[in-house]
This record gives sequence, structure tokens and C-alpha cells, in this order.
Amino acid sequence: MRIFKFGGASVKDAEGVKNVASVLEKVGHQNTLLVISAMGKTTNALEVVIKNYFEKSNDLNASIQEVRKYHNQILIDLFEDEEHNVFFAVNSLFNDLEYFIRSNKSPNYNFVYDQVVSFGEIVSTTIVSYYFNEKGLTNIWLDVRNFIKTDVTYRDANVDWEETQKLIQEGVDKNKLYITQGFLGSDSNNFTTTLGREGSDYTAAIFAYCLNAESVSIWKDVPGVLNADPRYFENAVLLNQISYREAIELAFYGATVIHPKTLQPLQRKEIPLYVKSFLNPLLPGTSVSKGADLEPQTSCFIVKKNQLLLSLSSLDFSFIMEENISEIFALFHQYKMKVNLIQNSAISFSVCIEDKFNNFEELRNHLAKKFKVSFNENVSLYTIRHFNEKSAATVETGKTVLLKQISRETLQIVTKE
Ligand code: ASP
Ligand code: MG
Repeated sequence: MRIFKFGGASVKDAEGVKNVASVLEKVGHQNTLLVISAMGKTTNALEVVIKNYFEKSNDLNASIQEVRKYHNQILIDLFEDEEHNVFFAVNSLFNDLEYFIRSNKSPNYNFVYDQVVSFGEIVSTTIVSYYFNEKGLTNIWLDVRNFIKTDVTYRDANVDWEETQKLIQEGVDKNKLYITQGFLGSDSNNFTTTLGREGSDYTAAIFAYCLNAESVSIWKDVPGVLNADPRYFENAVLLNQISYREAIELAFYGATVIHPKTLQPLQRKEIPLYVKSFLNPLLPGTSVSKGADLEPQTSCFIVKKNQLLLSLSSLDFSFIMEENISEIFALFHQYKMKVNLIQNSAISFSVCIEDKFNNFEELRNHLAKKFKVSFNENVSLYTIRHFNEKSAATVETGKTVLLKQISRETLQIVTKE
């Protein structure tokens, strides 16, 4: 069985949905399970709804109607007949969303977040599934929450592999065409959970692992994995073949083309991953598979923007040693900071961190009780894999370098723009 993942950009409008159907017509649609994200920027739009809800904003209703209208337009563009059942199905999903918002009593932000954002994926896959059936691409729509079971870490849930594997193996017939949602799961009380932003690639890998799939294809608006993000770097080139290890490194350092959690389950079963263009589906794209001989010869550039560079030193000039460091890391964990780079000297300790959950101020206050804290906000972390003098110079030129770290294959610098 093949697992295909289509992200939000591939289904951002009616043209996109039609294109997904045409990709399937070109590359075959038997024995395939499609994992599809929310349409376009829907997840961001639903984040606004959640914010309005918690802030008791007067814009709450308008922000919900905006998401409704966006999908309704796609429906109108896809289906000629406004009496088609899909209009009722989608309308009733939005009624469910409104009902949840009216009746919710939980003050838990992360819980509410997952219950609300999940509608993006549910609505998106409902529309695509109806459209495919209409076009003769007969498919079965699955509610992924009946298959991927997780713990209760809302917004960043951990998969219960044993339970998930059992449900997927029992419930999926390898000879059919399925459409299901990325990014979602459910806890043991059947409340919706999510696997972290951009988590749909990971969903594809979970299905592939549990089904021993023959391959996973991630369909993108770029030709494959490039050696640099074309939004930030000129002259990006396509990497035809890379190893799992290289892909894990690139994803770890922040290459957004593949979600970092995706590779590990695939590597464990040596399931090949293809990253391909949904605009040119017959081109080979990038293949990610086993093999040390697949390291790219070109330098690969990755940038993470909007980072914090935090430096801690002890108040009494004593060394920062194991005991302090473990305490500091426990706090990073507690405040959900993502640590992207570490450097320490005798009396100080610097880290480049990402504050995804807006907890930095609290963390800072906590640390200030024990350490002298200094920090730079809004810095960028550049990573060059397989660097050389020339590639290092391209990145450093014209920037103020706050910190630099070099290992055998990788150069990292933190810069103020
Ligand atoms: N829709 C979710 C997001 O935008 C999941 C995904 O696209 O992978 O984060
Ligand atoms: Mg998305």
C-alpha cells in the first residue's frame, strides 16, 4: 500500500482539489491512503477563532464565519449542484464547531485548541472525499481519531503505538482508496488531540509504519527536497537522493520540507519516502532511503527565524556544571522551550531557543532567581550542513554574528539581522 500526504497548500482552493484528483489519475489510485491537511491557511484562521474565544472578543463570530465562507466558496466552485449532500455535511460540521464553542466549559487552552483546530482537517477531507467520489475516484473516508490513539498532551500528543497499530491493522483494507486527516488523534476518552503544527507528515509515517507500506509520498509545491529554502536563499538546487540520516539532520535543524518526527518510523522499517511536486507529479522529486553513499555533495542551508538567544551565568561566578545544567533543562522542558543550540563555557551557558508557547517571560523570571540572565530576542539561527569556506561566507556576510559553532559536518551561527 502507498501512503500519500497532501498538505494545506495543495488543497487551498477548488483548483487545488481538482489537481489532487488529477495527480491520482496520473499516478494511480488503488491501494492508496491519502492523508490530507486543512485547506490553505485554515489552521491559522482557527487559531484566531481560539484566541477570540479566550479573549472574549467581539470578533469571535466573524472569525468563525470567515472560515465557513472560505470553505463554502470552495464547495460552490467544486460542485455545480448546491443541493448536493456535501453542502449539508460541511454545514453540519460547522454547526458542530459552533456548538462546541457555545457549550464548552473547559478553561484548558490546549484542550480547547485541539477540539477547535481539528475541524480544519475534518472539513477538508470531507470535501475532498465527496469530490473524489463524484469524479469516480471511489474512496472511503476515515476519521483518523478512531485509529491514532495518543496521550492527553494536547497540541503535542504522543502516539500510543501499540493501540494505534492494532486499530490500523484491523481497520484498513490494503486494496482500497482511503482519505483521512493528518495531524489529529484522540485520547482514551475520545477527545481530539493533535500531533503538533505541521504534523500531517508524521501521520503519513504512522500509517506507513503500521501498514508496512511500500512507500510514502509527500506532495509539495516545490520539486522535492532542496538544498535551501528558496524563500530565504537564492539558487536552491534539488537533492535527488538523500539518506534517512541526512533527512533527519535537515529536518532537525529546521528544514520545513519534512516534519522532523516523520523520518524515524520510516527508517525503522526502511520504507522509502518520496518528496514530489503536485504540479509535476511524474517527475521523480527526491527520494529518501537507506545508505551512507547518499550524502549530498552540495552545502545545505537552513534558517530558523524568530529565535531567542539566552545566556545564563551564575550570580557568584561559580561554574555552571552538571547539577545546574540539569536544573536549567528541566525548566526548559517545563516551559516547553525548544532548544536548538547549546554552548557553554566555565561560568556561562548559552542556548538558542524557540518559544512556541509564549512562555519566555515566565521562564526568565524563574531563572533570574538563580542566575544572571541576558538575552537577545528575534535572532536567526543559520545551519549549514556540509559547509565549506564559500558557503559559510555567503551566510555570514552582512550579519552580526552573536554565536558560532562548528562540528565536522555542520556550521551554525546565531545572527542579529
Ligand atoms: N493543518 C495543520 C497545520 O497547518 C497540520 C499540517 O498541515 O500538517 O499545522
Ligand atoms: Mg498545513
